[in-house]
Amino acid sequence: MNITRINSPCFSKRTRKLSKIKFLVIHYTGMQSKRVSIKRLISKKHKVSCHYLIDRSGKIIQMVDENKIAWHAGKSKWKNFINLNSSSLGIELVNRGHKWGYQSFSKDQINQLVRLSHKLKRKYKIKRSNILGHSDISPLRKNDPGEKFPWLKLQKKGLGIWYKIKKKYQVKKKLNNKKIRNEFFQNLHKFGYRYFSKKNPKKTDKLIVKSFQSRFRQGKISGSIDLECLKISENLARNTKI
Ligand SMILES: [Zn+2]
Repeated sequence: MNITRINSPCFSKRTRKLSKIKFLVIHYTGMQSKRVSIKRLISKKHKVSCHYLIDRSGKIIQMVDENKIAWHAGKSKWKNFINLNSSSLGIELVNRGHKWGYQSFSKDQINQLVRLSHKLKRKYKIKRSNILGHSDISPLRKNDPGEKFPWLKLQKKGLGIWYKIKKKYQVKKKLNNKKIRNEFFQNLHKFGYRYFSKKNPKKTDKLIVKSFQSRFRQGKISGSIDLECLKISENLARNTKI
């Protein structure tokens, strides 16, 4: 695999043990262009970086050594892990994102992401369920890589988790009942999501539902729980040990 190098100074000076690496976190750059993205990812002022950046032609650039903690995820939680920078590798995909004109990810970009992810998964024995999007671990702040990211395609390559439900469920009807709300969030909690209460509705619940939908029910990002979302969450909660 051909990987070029542009160094970013934005990483913690302390070297980590390689056995600390448990997650792959996928992002989009969300900037106007590749040039602007790289400029930001190497700027001392912005204090953000990643381990790898993949442009739209599939070219891979490494910015931080794998044994260093790159600053890509920020405040985040998944299962019992908090602030996942220290336990993850961050991969940025060049895409203008929701702010500047969200694009479909290119075939070359995704193919290279699959190759790179396989390599890292093998090297660090990363569980497929620990290959996540930024919005999974920071759902109140982030919506990358977004609803155009091909999670199903990745799952077919052994990366990340997908669900299996038998029939198509009616998605129109919202399920507002508190019991159903709590059931849905208990499933999400089992699967790994955080930043909500399992028992009491919160104002920010809508953001969690949106984040869930942008990954698992990409056709309709409504922010409200419907029967299909509930069924998907049930299925995911049963598949947490992979
Ligand atoms: Zn991100």
